[in-house]
Amino acid sequence: MPEYKKSEGKKSKKPSKVSNAIRLAVFWLFCLVLVAAIFGNLGGSDIASGTQPKEMSISELLQATEDGKINEIIVRGNDLIATPKEDSDLSGYTITSRKDGAGTLQEQGFDELVKEHKVSIKVEEQVDYLGIIIDVAIIVVPVIVVVVFISRMMSQAQNMNNQSMGFGKAKARLYGNEKKKVLFSDVAGNEAAKQDLSEIVDFLKNPKKYEKLGAKIPRGVLLAGEPGTGKTLMARAVAGEANVPFFSISGSEFAEMFVGVGASRVRDLFGKAKKNAPSIIFIDEIDAVAHKRDARGGAGREDEQTLNQILVEMDGFDNDSGVIVIAATNRVDMLDKALLRPGRFDRHVNVTLPERKDRVEILKVHFKNKPVDEKVSIDALAAKTAGSSGADLANIANEAAITAARLGHDKITNKDVTEAFERIAIGPERKSKVMSEEERKITAYHEAGHAVVGHVLPDSDPVHKVTIIPRGRTGGVTWFLPPEDRSYKNIYELKDVLARAMGGRVAERIILGEDGITTGASSDLQHVAELSREMVTQEGMGKQLRDQVFNSDEVNFFGDRAKMYSEKTSELIDAEIEALNKEADARAEAVLNANRKALDELAEALLEKETLEEDEVAKILKDTKLPAAAKLH
Ligand code: ADP
Ligand code: MG
Ligand code: ZN
Repeated sequence: MPEYKKSEGKKSKKPSKVSNAIRLAVFWLFCLVLVAAIFGNLGGSDIASGTQPKEMSISELLQATEDGKINEIIVRGNDLIATPKEDSDLSGYTITSRKDGAGTLQEQGFDELVKEHKVSIKVEEQVDYLGIIIDVAIIVVPVIVVVVFISRMMSQAQNMNNQSMGFGKAKARLYGNEKKKVLFSDVAGNEAAKQDLSEIVDFLKNPKKYEKLGAKIPRGVLLAGEPGTGKTLMARAVAGEANVPFFSISGSEFAEMFVGVGASRVRDLFGKAKKNAPSIIFIDEIDAVAHKRDARGGAGREDEQTLNQILVEMDGFDNDSGVIVIAATNRVDMLDKALLRPGRFDRHVNVTLPERKDRVEILKVHFKNKPVDEKVSIDALAAKTAGSSGADLANIANEAAITAARLGHDKITNKDVTEAFERIAIGPERKSKVMSEEERKITAYHEAGHAVVGHVLPDSDPVHKVTIIPRGRTGGVTWFLPPEDRSYKNIYELKDVLARAMGGRVAERIILGEDGITTGASSDLQHVAELSREMVTQEGMGKQLRDQVFNSDEVNFFGDRAKMYSEKTSELIDAEIEALNKEADARAEAVLNANRKALDELAEALLEKETLEEDEVAKILKDTKLPAAAKLH
């Protein structure tokens, strides 16, 4: 939300800068016109108010002067403006006249008359107002044009880089005492990583202890792990535990900078950290600037400058600078090797996805300050969230609280937690979606098909829940849950996964006939295609291609994609994949045909209750049997 607001602010500011300049220009032009109008009129506007203009020839004016009717004559170049005496018959007029050609008034015979009739003569320097205005305009207009042009450039630059006014100033955030301190106790699980990092904390707290023994204090620590595993959290915890200032910047911030700005930010950041030593510099998402410079010079010049500056700063550290640089990435394989050399990021800490017991701990942290009903089982939630990151779990806890609040509960109930989990895993329920009876029946058989095949096959995880309530983009869901987290799966387990995934489509075929199949199975088929390809090419599980792996296309020096195996092998791979898919289909069909009664009963129960839990499914399917055709071992 603040991000959004910020960019909105920038958007409205940009055009106003330009229009300010334009407004200024218009204002000046308007002033010029006004001045021109005023002064331009002055020449002919000496007519005193309440008088009338009267043109006279020079001889007429001479005569009038001779007759003693004129009080004053103003000479302005060749123009003459005469004011008559009050008592004369010309009173009430302002007389204008022009000298004839060249020659002074003297030559024209005024001299004598003036003396005789006490006429005052005022000679004014003629001022060329228009000339002045043009002169001023020649100076002012280009200045305005330049101002407008520059401000336009500036606003464009601002568009490219929101921080263009703060060139080279590191926008590093300092997490000092003012911000809530994070400690290791806020980071659940990941004991190994915490162990490694507590050494760093000790370096920061007691540098002397290590220096005395001639030990080099590490300069750079690289935290590697999948997104949301708590890398940022851990880096902050190191700062919190050591009680030192924490300067952080994200690699992605460098990406949006001008040429040269990234490098000067790095300089600024390191400068600040050294001034506040002992301290921690945290470079999040360092892969954004430090990706491999590939064969074709892939890394942009700007990134390269930023990366080089980081390396220069780290090399320039004194042994006792007291600054430790922590960087985080979820792509170690993408990093430029130069970063990993000794004296740079030579300490690696792996931050892993949480195991089941760690998930319990993380969930406890995030449910700690929320009112939770006693019936909520953190253990059960941890059991079904294999593969979730800490951030996912934090998200579930928060979503559960939101659900409870929405439904007006004063405590978070088990239902709220389940709803939150399923909403995050698959998408929100779409109870309002109207399904025809026929659609409901097809969905019920499709899900029952998955459930029966999964239940019957010996190496499949047990069925956890079946539902025909649409959620997200699915029409229904059958959940299988492993009894515990496992790092490896054997070939039988994978083949059972393929077969139970085919179970939905096969059930449709059984009740609707060969040509009655629906689009409801497309994601199942997608899953089957991906898994069987992986089994053949990555896990060496093909029949003829046993124990061999085949790397996917690689980009060669010339930027072309090259297959890393022959056409013949390619055909063999396709044949192996097809064999796996055919086998899965046949096994699913054998199971469903042998247990047709159980399939019908489960579908009926689903149509009636919509959702069936683990024990209800097991009860309905208790008399199912494994046909010989589906047996693998
Ligand atoms: P990463 O930097 O690895 O992408 P973060 O540190 O930004 O992950 O984690 C995001 C959020 O997930 C944290 O703010 C925290 O709420 C939660 N989280 C992640 N891992 C843990 C953990 N081990 N213990 C507690 N909370 C965690
Ligand atoms: Mg992070
Ligand atoms: Zn399905």
